[in-house]
Amino acid sequence: MKKQETKSIVLLKHHLKALKLPTMHAECEKVASRCAKDNVDHLGFLLQLCELELIDREKRASQRRLKAAKFPNLKTLENFDFAAQPSINKVLVTELMRCQYIDNRESIIIVGNPGTGKTHLSIALAVEACGRGQKVRFWKVTELITQLMEAREERQLMRMRNQLAKLDLLILDELGYVPASKLGAELLFDVISTAYERTSLIVTTNLPFENWTEVLGSERLTGATLDRLTHRCHILEATGPSYRLQDAKRRQRRTGRKSTELRRHEGH
Ligand code: ADP
Ligand code: MG
Repeated sequence: MKKQETKSIVLLKHHLKALKLPTMHAECEKVASRCAKDNVDHLGFLLQLCELELIDREKRASQRRLKAAKFPNLKTLENFDFAAQPSINKVLVTELMRCQYIDNRESIIIVGNPGTGKTHLSIALAVEACGRGQKVRFWKVTELITQLMEAREERQLMRMRNQLAKLDLLILDELGYVPASKLGAELLFDVISTAYERTSLIVTTNLPFENWTEVLGSERLTGATLDRLTHRCHILEATGPSYRLQDAKRRQRRTGRKSTELRRHEGH
């Protein structure tokens, strides 16, 4: 390689780095020699490099969104067994995977007993949303309430509310497992009413609507919360048995041993 050429490459790489184009930086020589071999002209070469940068940039952004969403684990629809939970409306889930509900600012409520795949479905839907460029955050309701109370004590509530307001999709997992304090319920209501018609929510709960007062305390707050949540929402209901339990039973049949899951269920 001529001395002049080496110098140009060093400079070019410097410039690409300064311009924050890491994929072009990494690929420019390879693509250049391929284009020379294939007789691709200069513009064609530039186009190929730009395309590579764009694809990688989208991939990196998607990964960042997945990380920022703070999912407890990654679940997908491919490994959701609809046959094991026939009460779940598969057609509706497939439709919701297209994420139109987020553009329409609609919400999803997933109701069902423990172990029926509510969290799994909420994550699968939200992972898809991340892949489609939406800003997502997963919260277990109890943890969200704790964080809100802490933020309030540290006079950071406004900041946290602003962060939540920037989201496109907010998952509130396990509404109803633990009753909230009066303040907790009010802070949660504030999040839900701020999200109303601005941010889509996916709420998972083991409680039928008529029992929400047990968690939120007052009739008035429950009424107002339900009014907002159910105004424009899709409801998925899992009425089948716990997948964990079915799984534990299957394993027991295979191995002849009882799992802790089964013992717990049988009240041992
Ligand atoms: P829930 O939130 O309703 O209590 P989860 O979504 O946490 O239930 O499900 C419990 C476990 O069982 C998870 O590991 C989940 O991936 C799995 N699971 C539940 N339902 C299904 C299903 N229909 N197909 C595959 N895995 C399932
Ligand atoms: Mg759950």
